[in-house]
Amino acid sequence: MQRAEPQDFSRVLSSMCTRPHPAARDAAERFLATNPGDPGTYETVAKLEREAIDLLGQVAGLEDAAGYVSSGGTEANIQAVRIARNRGDTRTPNFVAPASAHFSFRKAADILGVELRTAPLEDFRANLDGVAELIDEDTVLVVGVAGTTEYGRVDPIPALADMADDAGALCHVDAAWGGFVLPFTAHSWDFSDADIDTMTIDPHKMGQAAVPAGGLLARGPELLDELAIDTPYLESTSQVTLTGTRSGAGVASAVAAMEELWPEGYEAQYRTSQSNADWLAAEIEARGFDAVDPVLPIVAIDFPHDLIAELREQGWRLSRTENGEGRVVCMPHVTRPMLQEFLDDVDRLT
Ligand SMILES: *Cc1c(COP(=O)(O)O)cnc(C)c1O
Repeated sequence: MQRAEPQDFSRVLSSMCTRPHPAARDAAERFLATNPGDPGTYETVAKLEREAIDLLGQVAGLEDAAGYVSSGGTEANIQAVRIARNRGDTRTPNFVAPASAHFSFRKAADILGVELRTAPLEDFRANLDGVAELIDEDTVLVVGVAGTTEYGRVDPIPALADMADDAGALCHVDAAWGGFVLPFTAHSWDFSDADIDTMTIDPHKMGQAAVPAGGLLARGPELLDELAIDTPYLESTSQVTLTGTRSGAGVASAVAAMEELWPEGYEAQYRTSQSNADWLAAEIEARGFDAVDPVLPIVAIDFPHDLIAELREQGWRLSRTENGEGRVVCMPHVTRPMLQEFLDDVDRLT
């Protein structure tokens, strides 16, 4: 049997996942053999899932949240597009998302037969005029990103929600990564800030739960009902998830992580991560490179291509943005001493 590689996170700079919190790891192990896809048989984990959604609702400013723990942000985004398509009243549906949106929306468009219209950006955020130009009577959904994958930017969510509302469309916020840092910032991003219908928010990223634990939230149960499929051989009568059998470990670890960390633990982590990102950006600029201002704890650095390759040879797990910048995601395992070691390698190689 091979060991998981990387076994530790000491040189992992670009991952959006992290070492699970010890309580989350423990809960995942205890619930390994459960399946929340069959709540008639696995009652305890089904109750835990209700708790997970209540807790996620607290994080995202929504009382009595509807939703479920998905396999990840990809599934949650696909399902949000599916809700909007099924609710919409058109044979030629489209949805509008900024160019910064995660590639999972391209999967959603392909699987669901809904046209994806990509809006231009302005300073890394959705350009509102560009979004308005793409919306028409067949638009079923407008997507905003709260914490973009590459640069950690937050779209103007309240304005996007208003535009969706005016068009009779739903508004979905993708906070897969940002959802567990944004509550401690001044950004407007959640259900209490804007007329949002659905949200993706993943415990298995900044939430420090074990993979797989994504989250789909909906303002009300009637939205989730758009996904309901009859389930003849189960005690429960219908299912809204995309997968059938799914991970009880993910559900239990999400609850354990949130019970342990919401809100103080997450807030402390956000402050540490943000100060590491700000520090790294300043250190990088002092060395004559450009860093994209880290609005949230992600730093994109304009290292030359060769330097990134050499750093990777040193074992640094550093990936690139579409533009070719090195991208450091300041996850909980990315500590100041680790970043100092990284800079020492940068200095040695330049
Ligand atoms: C990571 C991410 C996703 C995809 O989530 P998975 O859990 O990898 O499926 C979607 N949207 C954003 C903004 C992300 O950062």
